[in-house]
Amino acid sequence: MLAGLTERQVEAVTTPGAPLCILAGAGSGKTRVLTRRIAYRVLTGTADPRHVLALTFTRKAAGELVRRLEALGVRDHVTAGTFHALAYAQLRQRWADTGRRPPALLDRKAGLLIRLLGRGAGSARVQPADLAGEIEWAKARLIDPGRYETEAAAAERRPPVPLPTMAALYERYEEEKRRRGLVDFDDLLLGCASALADDPEFAASQRWRFRHLFVDEFQDVNLAQARLLRGWRGDSDDLCVVGDPRQAIYSWNGAEPSQLSDFAKREPGATVISLDDNFRSTPQILAVASAIISLGPDRHQPLRPRRPDGPLPTVRAYARDVDEARATARAVRDGHRPGTPWSNTAVLCRTNAQLVLFEEAFRAAGIPYRVRGGGAFLERPEVKAALAELRRSPAPLATGLGDLQVVADDDQAGPADGSPAGERQAVLEELARLGADYLAHEPDGDASGFLAWLGAALRSEAPRAASDAVELATFHGAKGLEWPVVFVAGLERGLVPISHAGTDEARAEEQRLLYVAVTRAEDQLHCSWARERTFGARSSRRQPSPWLDDISAARAALAGGSPPPGSPGWQDRLAAERARLHRSEAQRARASRSERAGADADPELLAALKRWRSEAARAGGVPAFVVFHDSTLAAVAEAKPRTSASLVRLPGLGPVKAERYGAALLALVSEHADAGSSTGSN
Ligand code: ATP
Ligand code: MG
Repeated sequence: MLAGLTERQVEAVTTPGAPLCILAGAGSGKTRVLTRRIAYRVLTGTADPRHVLALTFTRKAAGELVRRLEALGVRDHVTAGTFHALAYAQLRQRWADTGRRPPALLDRKAGLLIRLLGRGAGSARVQPADLAGEIEWAKARLIDPGRYETEAAAAERRPPVPLPTMAALYERYEEEKRRRGLVDFDDLLLGCASALADDPEFAASQRWRFRHLFVDEFQDVNLAQARLLRGWRGDSDDLCVVGDPRQAIYSWNGAEPSQLSDFAKREPGATVISLDDNFRSTPQILAVASAIISLGPDRHQPLRPRRPDGPLPTVRAYARDVDEARATARAVRDGHRPGTPWSNTAVLCRTNAQLVLFEEAFRAAGIPYRVRGGGAFLERPEVKAALAELRRSPAPLATGLGDLQVVADDDQAGPADGSPAGERQAVLEELARLGADYLAHEPDGDASGFLAWLGAALRSEAPRAASDAVELATFHGAKGLEWPVVFVAGLERGLVPISHAGTDEARAEEQRLLYVAVTRAEDQLHCSWARERTFGARSSRRQPSPWLDDISAARAALAGGSPPPGSPGWQDRLAAERARLHRSEAQRARASRSERAGADADPELLAALKRWRSEAARAGGVPAFVVFHDSTLAAVAEAKPRTSASLVRLPGLGPVKAERYGAALLALVSEHADAGSSTGSN
């Protein structure tokens, strides 16, 4: 049980300290320590497995924990699950015990909300999912309708309707739910916490049942979950939480990372242990990871690598999003060796909608794949609803595709699912894009033709059914997991950071999210972006993510044989590389600006200007470029200034040169305009 652990990890597993908080970076063995600690306590008799409650972020993680415990020799099942699942189970038990008819679970808020909103002005443009997301945010932070307006204003929330309207809607939503005897997903946490607070007998029985509490990923716990945890815990100290503040990625959804970072402050008797070594990734990958988050105002200590060197992470730019997906599929196929499983590889994207391109590409390449989290594109509830609507509608397919967002509905999964409300919109845009693809192949196609085509493009029974498959996942969905080979795709502004990240905090969270994504890689990390991406029917030019600079700076520092990451010189070297990159970037931008500046130059005027320059140079006994650069002449031939004031505003034309040559230039411009070739004006 203690085999293969560092001294620090052994301490974290065996310390009698309680409550215990393990604060450590990605891949430092937090989940491993948590599991071993449960096993250690069970096998040394300080905990009874039937009284252990382990809280994880996903059901999948809970299953994994139980499996690992069995492997460690813990026979009796410990209880492991998400906050929601545990709360629901306890409430069901309580309803049964008290002879109360269980309320129905409302798993989609949107239907109810959109009816309450009515058909008022502007309501057609409102996404029900955004309204639902806002209510989820409030409930996760224990904000009731009465306090909503003040709190939302303080948090700079931007719901799709004005704050007072949103507050009224939230209030009516709660009333309507009560009237119909419904509870929503968030009510499970709040209801269980209230029952624990109000009913001492219920509280005592639950605290007796689960007296050893363990929580993984504690940085993403929200206030409702924290309140529930307090209820479960009572005045016991038998609590162990583990987490990483740098991986807090659910604040948008109401998580409260200070629960973790202030743990010691709130719990004066707590033992806090940190782990500094990283066992997951090569030093090269860690260098890139720490570059992403370490250059901010608070310079984080980089993770200390324990693994041997590996290949340099790669960065690639592609012309189009489809090229990115196809090249990735090719790279995965080319890198595949007999004997190594496909499941060694993952492709991670910021949004679910991006994943569908990879589904297409992997399907076409005959590579088995699996979509984690959000579910395969065609199985997503909003996609199913949209396709059903398209089929019902008598309108031509193209019209139906244009109206797609109207059928947007609420997210079926709970707040733990992690799909932003805007994601639904993106998924529907992706469906519209596929529709446009289909219509390009079959201009007279209809909805049923589209469905058949989609099935062929995306649904491949054979590869998908395989248990060994490449994983496609969102950054959020990849949390806590690891793969030897990771492709992080779509590193573009608008996606990374996501365009709706409007505040500094939101952007900082996006930065941490990218950090989570790259720290999933064990041996190989491949980063990419595309210069053009298609959303629905329109294409847009893309700019690289600002954090690609940090990745490139780390690559440059590594390639240049800098001091190793984590050593004193590393941070400075990284900062120097980044500054160098910025300088050359700025130079490139200036160069392309001045190239562009003369792109529309009048060719005759430009030729005349060049003839004049040769004479002026000869007369002055200097080379031509000393008189003026080509780019300056081109700018003059484009702008055709008629006054000295507008002349000096051009690049390469300061007051000194304007004084010396201005009159000659203006004369040439004017001669040229008078000759009638153009109506240059300023
Ligand atoms: P994350 O923050 O991403 O959730 P984590 O801190 O929970 O990461 P783990 O998943 O527990 O980290 O461990 C990361 C990897 O390192 C796992 O493959 C784990 O088995 C391995 N590992 C952890 N500790 C050691 C160790 N002492 N020796 C060898 N491998 C280790
Ligand atoms: Mg973990």
